[in-house]
Amino acid sequence: MTAMILDGKKVASHLKTKLKSQIATYTHKGLKAPGLAVILVGDDKASALYVSTKRKTCAEVGITSFAYNLPTQTSEAELLSLIAKLNHQEEVDGILVQLPLPKHIETTKIIESIAPQKDVDGFHPYNLGRLTQANPILRPCTPYGVIQLLNAYQIPLKRQNAVVIGSSNIVGRPMSLELLMAGATVTICHSQTKNLEPYVRHADIVISATGVRHLIQNDWLHSQQTLIDVGMHRLDDGRICGDIDFDEAQKRVAAITPVPGGVGPMTVVTLLQNTFEAYRMKLR
Ligand code: NAD
Repeated sequence: MTAMILDGKKVASHLKTKLKSQIATYTHKGLKAPGLAVILVGDDKASALYVSTKRKTCAEVGITSFAYNLPTQTSEAELLSLIAKLNHQEEVDGILVQLPLPKHIETTKIIESIAPQKDVDGFHPYNLGRLTQANPILRPCTPYGVIQLLNAYQIPLKRQNAVVIGSSNIVGRPMSLELLMAGATVTICHSQTKNLEPYVRHADIVISATGVRHLIQNDWLHSQQTLIDVGMHRLDDGRICGDIDFDEAQKRVAAITPVPGGVGPMTVVTLLQNTFEAYRMKLR
């Protein structure tokens, strides 16, 4: 048996085409294009790559991106003042601050300084609070990207047992809220979980978001499961892989995401959808 491959690249490409034509209906009326400010502090290579992908994809769908590449020594006050300015800037609909930030900058303070209606990453407590209440507006990109991918392949979520491994504020926690909202029965595992195995064995949907390679053992998996690999690792030879041992796991489960080409492209397209949503909200 080989699993169905949940092709995030393909689904994201369809969603981008749809988004591009939605944006065009506004710009053809003479309205300005949606604008996304992308802030990168420091010279972390992986972050620089993510940011350049996000900017490039903005251009593909007709979103104007504004680049702010700041040096590592940028102070917290300087960053706060830039965000305050962007919060009021008319042409900016969305503000993205690439994480992680250098250690001398308090991430929570920065996230909370972004106007919730421009928080296209969905990390502001207002947006996370709305998601907690099952009434979301701007939703964290990776978790909502995963939901859109599952929906695209019509994988049922209602009444299903889902396990989310990882409980970070940007992936695991909002992922569990998304699944809960979609009608799944959700278990959240994390580094303090005593024994992962029974949770994984029992689940219909397994989401790995730990950044720990091969934490999930292949013999815990079974043929009825959908396996979503959020993890991202760069190997010494430059290749990218996920948390899961893909080659073995795909022989055991019903459906699986590849890395690269699974969750990553869905995260980026969701960011662009959020930017468009922020733009539309401002027009209303
Ligand atoms: P994080 O380090 O903030 O959180 C990791 C989580 O894993 C924590 O909740 C921790 O408790 C849990 N964990 C660690 N060891 C564990 C163990 N032995 N057993 C059970 N749980 C354990 O990481 P993050 O920001 O949530 O990212 C997770 C992974 O997802 C990383 O590889 C990251 O690169 C990747 N990521 C991918 C995308 C994408 O678009 N594909 C987006 C964001 C993050």
